[in-house]
Amino acid sequence: MTLELVCPAGTLPALRAAVDNGADSVYIGFRGATNARNFPGLNFDASEAAAGVAYAHERGARVFVALNIYPSPATWETATDTIDRAARLGVDALILADPGLMRFAADRYPNLRLHLSVQSSATNWRAIEFYRQEFGVQRAVLPRVLSATQVARLIKRTSVEIEVFGFGSLCVMAEGRCALSSFATGHSPNTQGVCSPAHAVRWEETPAGRQSRLNDILIDRYAPGEAAGYPTLCKGRFRVNDIVFHALEEPTSLNALGVLPTLAASGVKAIKVEGRQRSPDDVGQVTRLLRRALDLCDDAAAEWTPPVEMIGELDALAEGRTHTLGAYHRPWQ
Ligand code: SF4
Repeated sequence: MTLELVCPAGTLPALRAAVDNGADSVYIGFRGATNARNFPGLNFDASEAAAGVAYAHERGARVFVALNIYPSPATWETATDTIDRAARLGVDALILADPGLMRFAADRYPNLRLHLSVQSSATNWRAIEFYRQEFGVQRAVLPRVLSATQVARLIKRTSVEIEVFGFGSLCVMAEGRCALSSFATGHSPNTQGVCSPAHAVRWEETPAGRQSRLNDILIDRYAPGEAAGYPTLCKGRFRVNDIVFHALEEPTSLNALGVLPTLAASGVKAIKVEGRQRSPDDVGQVTRLLRRALDLCDDAAAEWTPPVEMIGELDALAEGRTHTLGAYHRPWQ
């Protein structure tokens, strides 16, 4: 089976934690609005990135750089400078979403691997083949909206390696196509590299309970003692037909351990862990658990059932402290 384990690293300590706990590859971003996790305190400057690449390579792990925003004319040069910087550092792949940047990178660095970011929203094999034929893309990260059957069918029609999400928060609207954050805050992952940015978050204590808002939009209201999550627009509770509920998505976390053999048998190449915002400690724990799961499953795929205690430990590290198989178990074909 041997699925590659791709883990997030928002900081140099997180990168070390991922590598030390068994990641085959880590993905990082540079500081600034060049990638979809542009949060304060996250991401790498040039010297940290160089140290991270050296640390990973000395231990046999690969480093991918995410540059998965869609640049405007005003930010084009920053984006291409970032490609130059990543290439100089000797990273193992660029994760890109924008076709213009793919053209630039493919022409200038023909030997540098290109991975199609989940932000490209490529959910069918024809789109993925287009990126291969045009730019030589070697891997595509699938949005978290396809059933396991659909993933298997897609893989049969493309020679591009397929990476799918295995653990972490959900982004339900075919990443790259969601305008909710942009609508509420003017910032989105595609342009400023952030969904539901911290500067727009408001917390209010009211007689009806604690409330979270993004700018003036009410995202959620919590009962006394109820745990409050980060206000992400798609995971808010909204009134629809006089019923207040998580109308778009539950604040829960994807956990694909239950379908690892299915994904592997269908030809998936790599399993990705979401969460460059995680602390180094969390990254280390999640990586250790996923590594163990992949190794155990490798040894006994036919009888594979994820150990209950492993699921419990992952739930403790998950958004909403609970998990779902997401779209993987949906009946759509
Ligand atoms: S609002 Fe939700 S679906 Fe949209 S980009 Fe953010 S996390 Fe993804």
